[in-house]
Amino acid sequence: MDVYIVLAMNEPPLLRLPYPSVAEAQAQIAACNDGSMPREPYQLISQYTLEPLLKSAVEQLSSVTVRYGHEFLGLSQDADTVTATIRDPDGHPLEIRARYMVGGDGGASMVRRQLGIQLRGEGNLLRLHQALYYAPDLYDRIPIGDGPGRGRHYHIADAQSTFLIMQDSTKHWTLHAVVDRAEDMAAQFERTIGMPVPYESLYVGESKQNLLLADGYGAGRVFLAGDSVHLVIPTGGLGMNTGVGDAIDLSWKLHATLRGWGGPNLLSSYEIERRQVGDRNVGASRYASSGRRKWRAQYRANIRDATPEGQATRDNLTRVANVEQRKTNEMIGAELGYRYVGSPVIWEELGGPEQLFREYLPTTWPGARLPHVWLQEGCSVHDVIGDGYTLLRLGGSSADTSAIERGMQALGAPFDVLTIDGNAPRDVYGYDLILVRPDLHVVWRGDAAPSDPAQLAAVATGH
Ligand SMILES: Cc1cc2nc3c(=O)[nH]c(=O)nc-3n(C[C@H](O)[C@H](O)[C@H](O)COP(=O)(O)OP(=O)(O)OC[C@H]3O[C@@H](n4cnc5c(N)ncnc54)[C@H](O)[C@@H]3O)c2cc1C
Repeated sequence: MDVYIVLAMNEPPLLRLPYPSVAEAQAQIAACNDGSMPREPYQLISQYTLEPLLKSAVEQLSSVTVRYGHEFLGLSQDADTVTATIRDPDGHPLEIRARYMVGGDGGASMVRRQLGIQLRGEGNLLRLHQALYYAPDLYDRIPIGDGPGRGRHYHIADAQSTFLIMQDSTKHWTLHAVVDRAEDMAAQFERTIGMPVPYESLYVGESKQNLLLADGYGAGRVFLAGDSVHLVIPTGGLGMNTGVGDAIDLSWKLHATLRGWGGPNLLSSYEIERRQVGDRNVGASRYASSGRRKWRAQYRANIRDATPEGQATRDNLTRVANVEQRKTNEMIGAELGYRYVGSPVIWEELGGPEQLFREYLPTTWPGARLPHVWLQEGCSVHDVIGDGYTLLRLGGSSADTSAIERGMQALGAPFDVLTIDGNAPRDVYGYDLILVRPDLHVVWRGDAAPSDPAQLAAVATGH
């Protein structure tokens, strides 16, 4: 997982930023129980691996019909339903009527356009070519570092913003560079790896860097999620993560609404909760990419010269990169530390800790995601929480929770009380009682039941 800044991969690196491997990160997480680490370590997984995996999982669901090759053309909606017009793979039109619709149709989203919702911010900041290579021997032949020097990202100190990313197979590599023509990418790849290695070019295309956020996350019965509402620069790896967060937030709220226990505030809270995260992550991406630009601005044409001036260029770029490149790779606060503020379905406490990009401060402040704490080896509090709402009763508390229970049951919401006696969860969470939503975000916390438990149940379920 190391990140390198190099002139070429067959030369000593200018800078190595070491990061734990997945196995090392797993061991660090296993040894930590102060709530400061995620339940799972990071993973390097290529879209080429992830998408077939998601497809095979979704095809197992009896509630889902997967239709590839169908094109969404337009929509109309009334008070009760939304109708989508689709073109099937043979060119025949068909209509699908539903109670709700979600447009997860990417940056050029037709669904968003149909709703008349604009993306705003900074578009088309940089145009890069992107290429995918199959180079099965490269991983074992990288000579840099102490040993094989196998990193995940190799940034080339050049004038073309070149970087090479190892994909999860270790045999596939993606190269990004500012070049004039697609045909120029092969020479750029060969210059980057600096040694003869057999390879096959699988794809060359163009990508644009954007920092954009939609004015709205839906209208009426139609919602938008993923890149259709936020476009970030890949620096920091926040794009898909933010989209997955949208999907998690929206899916349980749709389920609750369709089952009848979700009140009207539940679906309207989707935009309130997730647009602030989209906004924040566009900011985090800007912060990371401006760091990248700062060290790249230190590049001079003499960077390879065996002269005092050439050495000064290398030293200067390395010094700045050692500060600025870290911004891309060390954003645990952006990943774990977001908290939903001003949501109608959170029992708001005024104030709250600052949400930082680079630091994660575990907290149960309402709106935050419940920190991970081990109950025993290999079993986290997260693992024993069910799919509905959960009231955690911690630290041997004898608080009477029956009124909260009755309030939730009266609304028909899925609800459990989970008693956890160990010290670690009570110490990290700081309260005896914590009400957690199906998505693990905290609704409410206290040491005794609130004075109006029915009101708490109503807020939590959007009534
Ligand atoms: C170079 C690069 C590197 C990246 N690295 C990372 C990373 O490290 N970590 C990370 O989290 N994210 C990363 N991302 C971002 C990530 O790829 C996107 O955020 C993610 O793919 C967005 O998913 P999505 O489903 O919202 O949209 P998309 O992946 O764009 O999917 C939208 C889908 O909708 C379909 N569609 C569009 N219009 C229609 C229509 N009219 N009818 C039917 N179907 C339609 C499209 O064909 C497409 O399949 C990176 C992106 C790039 C470009």
